[in-house]
Amino acid sequence: MNLSHIEHIGIAVKSLEISIPYWEKVFGLKCYAIEEVADQRVKTAFFMVGQTKIELLESTDPEGPIGTFLEKKGEGMHHIAFAVKDIDSALTETEANGVKLIDKVSRKGAEGMNIGFLHPKSTFGVLTELCEKKDLEV
Ligand code: ZN
Repeated sequence: MNLSHIEHIGIAVKSLEISIPYWEKVFGLKCYAIEEVADQRVKTAFFMVGQTKIELLESTDPEGPIGTFLEKKGEGMHHIAFAVKDIDSALTETEANGVKLIDKVSRKGAEGMNIGFLHPKSTFGVLTELCEKKDLEV
């Protein structure tokens, strides 16, 4: 599989505007990008911590994945994302190991990444994302 590092940790928030200052003021991090991912019905904000990012996720649609998560569980940790070299073979390999997938084929995520989610029912409750960046240094 070859996981190189934790690419990012996704955190569901009600409002980027309200939560970004927490990360900037308390931890001295700089929000370097805000991006809307229409496909996932979220607006994302990114901070760098070493080579790992914090990805804040604000819902743009109450029926979307983050909208329903916030409704059910409230704000908090949403997913963990591992960087892999080859996303599609990683997904195939994961499925071959009996893990249920949300995405059988990778799709476009924020920051030009190709991403795929594993189903939390197969991962002991941890929504897990695999992601690949073309110029990833592994
Ligand atoms: Zn993510």
